[in-house]
Amino acid sequence: SSWPERAQFSYDDLRKVLLDTPNEEKARQWSQYYTAGPHLAGKNLSQAIWTREKWQEFGVQSSIVDYDIYINYPVGHRLALLEKKSKSKTESAEEEQEDVIGMMKYKVKYECSLEEDVLDEDPTSGLDNRIPTFHGYSASGNATAQYVYVNFGTYEDYEDLVRANISLKGNIALVKYGKIFRGLKVKRAQELGMVGVVIYTDPQEDGEMTEENGYKTYPNGPARNPSSVQRGSTQFLSVAPGDPTTPGYPSKPGVPRQDPHHSIPSIPSLPISYKDALPLLKALNGHGPKASDFNKYWQGGGLGYKGVQYNIGPSPSGLVLNLVNEQEYITTPLWNVIGIINGTLQDEVIVLGNHRDAWIAGGAGDPNSGSACLNEVIRSFGEALKQGWKPLRTIVFASWDGEEYGLIGSTEWVEEYIPWLSKSAVAYLNLDAGTRGPNFDAAASPLLNKALYEATSLIQSPNQTIPGQTVRDLWDGHIRTMGSGSDFTAFQDFAGIPSLDMGFASGPDSPVYHYHSNYDSFAWMDKFGDVGWHYHVAITKVWAVLAAALVETPIIALNATDYATGLDTYLHSVKKLSTTAFPSVADSPILDSLESAIARLYNASITFDAKAADLADIINSGVPWWRWWRKAQLYYQVRQVNDRYKYLERNFLHKEGLDGRSWFKHVVFAPGLWTGYAGATFPGLVEAVDRKDREGVERWSKIIEKNIDDATESLK
Ligand code: GLU
Ligand code: CA
Ligand code: ZN
Ligand code: ZN
Repeated sequence: SSWPERAQFSYDDLRKVLLDTPNEEKARQWSQYYTAGPHLAGKNLSQAIWTREKWQEFGVQSSIVDYDIYINYPVGHRLALLEKKSKSKTESAEEEQEDVIGMMKYKVKYECSLEEDVLDEDPTSGLDNRIPTFHGYSASGNATAQYVYVNFGTYEDYEDLVRANISLKGNIALVKYGKIFRGLKVKRAQELGMVGVVIYTDPQEDGEMTEENGYKTYPNGPARNPSSVQRGSTQFLSVAPGDPTTPGYPSKPGVPRQDPHHSIPSIPSLPISYKDALPLLKALNGHGPKASDFNKYWQGGGLGYKGVQYNIGPSPSGLVLNLVNEQEYITTPLWNVIGIINGTLQDEVIVLGNHRDAWIAGGAGDPNSGSACLNEVIRSFGEALKQGWKPLRTIVFASWDGEEYGLIGSTEWVEEYIPWLSKSAVAYLNLDAGTRGPNFDAAASPLLNKALYEATSLIQSPNQTIPGQTVRDLWDGHIRTMGSGSDFTAFQDFAGIPSLDMGFASGPDSPVYHYHSNYDSFAWMDKFGDVGWHYHVAITKVWAVLAAALVETPIIALNATDYATGLDTYLHSVKKLSTTAFPSVADSPILDSLESAIARLYNASITFDAKAADLADIINSGVPWWRWWRKAQLYYQVRQVNDRYKYLERNFLHKEGLDGRSWFKHVVFAPGLWTGYAGATFPGLVEAVDRKDREGVERWSKIIEKNIDDATESLK
C-alpha cells in the first residue's frame, strides 16, 4: 500500500538492509585499498577504474566522467633562514654553510627540512613515491626577504599590522594555520605587496592532547608529530572554486581558458611543520612588538614552552628567508566516477558524493574514510536491489577527483550538468572526511535539518555513556550554515540544491588529527582515529538512512518552515552586525521590509508543510494505492507538493551572482569572503554593510526580498 505500489519490498525492509549490511571489516578493507599509495588529483586513474568496477559489482551502473583541468604538481622547494655576512668580517668558521644570492653572501642559519619524518610504524610515511610538502595552486617563485609573523593571517590580523605600521610590503609572511582557509591568508598577503608566504602548523590548534601537556607524539601517542605538515590548496576559494581557467563552465577538452590569477595566487607559498617553524619563530624573539602585548586579540601561540616569544618582527635587515617554490603547471585529465540507480521517478534525484583524491599517500581521514563509507552505502543499496527493492526516486553516487585543489571534479560536473540538475535534483549529501574522531558535526541547508535529526536518531552511537544512545543523543544538534571547503559548494551555491555535509570530527580531547599530513594514514586510523572502525560504520548508516528517507518518502523529506526560521535568524545577525559596522542602516527601515518578506515566507511555509503532512497522512493511512492512484487529483497533488519542495531552494539564486564574485549565485549562503570555510549568510547584504555601502545595502535588500517573495509565491 505504499506509493507507488512496491509489493514485496517495503521502506522498512530497505531500512533494515541499510542497517544490517555495512560492516567494520569491509570499511577497513576499502580504506586500506584507497590509502595504500599516492592518489593526487589527476594521478589516480587506477583508483577510479577500481571504484567503478566495485560499484558495478555491487549492482550499480557506473561510468567515469573526465575533465581537462589546469593544475600544479611539485617540482622543488627550499626554505632557509639566512644571515647576511658583513663584508669586513673575516671568515672564521669554515665549516659554516654559505649561500650566495644575487650579490649577497649569506650564512645559512637554518635549512628547513620540508619533509615529514619517516616512521617505521606508519608504512605510507616512508614510500619512495610519497608526495612532497607543497601548496595546491601556489605560484612558482624565489623570494629572499625579511619576514613578519602575521598571526593567523586573517583580514583583521593584516589590518592590525598595517595600522601599527609594521612593514609588510616586500617582506615574507610567516603565518600559522587556523581560523580561515589558507588560500585567503596568501590572497591578503599578496594584496598588501608581500612577496611570499610560509604557513606553519602551531600546536595551539591541537586541543588538550599536546606534547606540551605531556602526551607522547605520534606514533607513540595521540599528540601531533612535530614534523607533520599540512599541505593544501591556496586557491582563493571564496572568489570561485573549480578549475580556475573555466569559471562557470565545464573544463571539457578544447574549451576557451581564462587567466587563472583572479582565483589563484601569484606569490609563492610553502607549508611547514612546527619543527621547521621553531628556528624561524625564535629568530624573531626581541624583534618588533610581542604578539601578546600588541593587541588584545593577539596572544602568541602554542610554542612558548619551546622558547618562542612570538614577536611580530620584521626580522632585522640582516636576517632573511629564502623561499623557493617550483611548480609545474599543466592541463591534464581528472576522473569522477558516477553511479546511478534509476528510480520510478527520474526527475527527482538525490546525489551522494565524496572525493577520492588526497594530498598524501594515505588520506585515511580525508577523504578516504568517506570513500570507504561510500562503498559501504552503495554495497548496501545494491543488496536491497538484489532483494527486490524498486526505488521511488533516482540516486546518483559520485566519487569526485580534484577536490583538494579546489573542488574541481564536483564543480566541473555541476557546471556541465546544471540544466538537468536544476530540473531534477532534490538534495546533495556530501561526506568528505567522514571519520576523524568521535564528534558528530554537520552543516546543511535548513530544508534538510529535520531529515538529518531523524536519520541521526535512528543510528546507535559507537560511544554510549548510557546504553542505547543514538548519534543524535550524543550530538548537541547544532547544524552549521553552509560555507565552503568541500564538494557541496557547487551544488548549494551555484545550483541552489539543498545540500548537507557531515562527519565525525576530532575534538579537543581526542587524538590529534594530522590534517593533510603523511600521518593521516591507515596506520593512524587503525590505531588512534577509529579503533575498531565503528565510526566508519555509524556514519555509513546515517548517510544511507538519510538518503533512503529522501528517496522513499512519498512526500519529499524537506521542511520549508525551517528555512524561513533560518532566514529570520540570519537577518537578525545582519541587524546585529550593522549596529556596530554601519549604524545608520540598523536604525533605518531598510531591513524592515526584508523582515516582513521573511514573515510572509514563514506563514506560507507553515501552511505548506501542514498541507504536505496531511497528504503524507492520507498516503500512509493504508488506503490502497489503487484507490487514490486513480484519483488523479491526489496523485497530482503529491507531484505538485514535491515539485515545490524540490524547487524551493532554487528561488534563492541570483543570476548575476555576488558583487565581485559572480560565480556565487546564492543570496543566502556563500563562503565568507575572508573566511572561506565558514559560511556567510545573506553575503551580498553583509558585504555591503561591511563596506558601509548604502547603495549596496539597498540594492541587496531588494534583490533578497524579491528572492524571498518568489519562494513564498512558489509555495502558494
Ligand atoms: N578541502 C579542501 C581544503 O580545505 C578544499 C580546497 C578548496 O576548496 O579549494 O583544503
Ligand atoms: Ca569550470
Ligand atoms: Zn577532503
Ligand atoms: Zn582535504
